[in-house]
Amino acid sequence: MNPSRSIVVAGGGIGGLTAALALAARGHHVTVCEAAVQPHPLGVGINLLPHAVRVFAGLGLLPALEAMAVHTRALVFANRHGQTIYEDLRGLAAGSSHPQLSIHRGHLQMRLWDEAAQRLGPAQVRTGERVVAARETANGAVAEILHADGTRSERACEILVGADGIHSALRQQFYPDEGAPRWNGMMMWRGTTLARPFLDGRTMVQAGHRRAKFVVYPIEPVRPDGLQRINWICDRRLREDGFGGGLTAPSREDWSKPGSLDDLLPTFGSWRFAWLDVPGLIRAAEQILEWPMVDRDPLPRWRHGHTTLLGDAAHPMYPIGSNGATQAILDAAALADALDGHASITAALNAYEAARLPMTRDIVAMNRREGLDAILDMVEEAAPEGFARIEDVTDPRVLAEWVQAYKKAAGHQVGRPQAAP
Ligand SMILES: Cc1cc2nc3c(=O)[nH]c(=O)nc-3n(C[C@H](O)[C@H](O)[C@H](O)COP(=O)(O)OP(=O)(O)OC[C@H]3O[C@@H](n4cnc5c(N)ncnc54)[C@H](O)[C@@H]3O)c2cc1C
Repeated sequence: MNPSRSIVVAGGGIGGLTAALALAARGHHVTVCEAAVQPHPLGVGINLLPHAVRVFAGLGLLPALEAMAVHTRALVFANRHGQTIYEDLRGLAAGSSHPQLSIHRGHLQMRLWDEAAQRLGPAQVRTGERVVAARETANGAVAEILHADGTRSERACEILVGADGIHSALRQQFYPDEGAPRWNGMMMWRGTTLARPFLDGRTMVQAGHRRAKFVVYPIEPVRPDGLQRINWICDRRLREDGFGGGLTAPSREDWSKPGSLDDLLPTFGSWRFAWLDVPGLIRAAEQILEWPMVDRDPLPRWRHGHTTLLGDAAHPMYPIGSNGATQAILDAAALADALDGHASITAALNAYEAARLPMTRDIVAMNRREGLDAILDMVEEAAPEGFARIEDVTDPRVLAEWVQAYKKAAGHQVGRPQAAP
């Protein structure tokens, strides 16, 4: 048994809270410092892939999350007429040991927040504390904290984890010349709508092509009144980047910036599928948020002394392939494993980085080349007005190979049984 460590986690998002729970479960003394004064259930839908759900199962959270979420059965790729190009089974339906869960990002965060407050103690999950810098000491690190009331304090620890998102202050300290995130010219409008379930009520669909794409999936169980909360995303290419991500995003990336119907209906207003009225769904939205598709170049290393990075602070990636939250959760589990496996902090943080940096670097690169969505373009180019049979347009085996190759590279695990962590 390796020593119990004192650990400060900067950031109480999904990555930071999962890390706190996973580390506390291994006996470490963890404090979370979250910049927000009052955490709110912000954002809309996200997907947790089976290998991330497995981490939550190991923390005893599976029943609670299943009750809030949808067991996703399949991911369907479709053209802009709603015709199925390829259906990829997901989660339990694909033979995984754990489900894929489609879930409300903010509700998941709040659930993890409550759990962390209970397990770590409410005083260890702190709000209104922005970690602005890390300072190295002889045998640990000091987190320099700016409080919401303008006062400052310091918190000493053996390990400091920067889980402070795409605008990470700690990442900026270690890479001061990095600059703003890189934009690929796509704008995303994300919304939720209460509507009748579409298809089987458990399917996620990505329809369209690289200039305009509509993603839709339910994120809550069907309610007694027959309605279901449905998450949707309209992606529209405003500028061409040639897959380099070298553009400057139009405004600072802010998940709470409201979007407008006028930006969507000229493009998506005529997308009426046999199984879904897209403009109807958009018009009935509870909320619409606007967000540019941004990432950052992969870093050469995450560890700097006793400080390391995790989640979006370490590897922000385009939200393609349902990897944003999933990879942050895998980081959290890998960090806890690495501390179990190594008596020295340096060795543990290096082992964590070796386990996680190469895969996340590859996903960033794959997502810049559109990841799984490249198959949408193959079909759009071959048959822009639709098709009678997909076999007339492309070889389904090529589509299947593309999808399976991406999943393998992104660490999807298929097949039972898998030992719980
Ligand atoms: C408000 C919000 C809404 C989002 N909505 C969606 C969505 O609808 N769909 C989707 O796919 N993804 C969404 N994301 C992104 C998604 O949550 C992440 O890609 C993924 O979960 C990885 O999470 P993370 O914990 O690494 O980073 P984040 O989720 O970004 O969490 C970082 C946390 O750190 C806090 N923080 C920031 N700076 C500091 C600091 N210096 N000190 C202390 N705390 C700090 C932030 O307030 C935040 O709580 C959203 C992120 C945020 C912050």
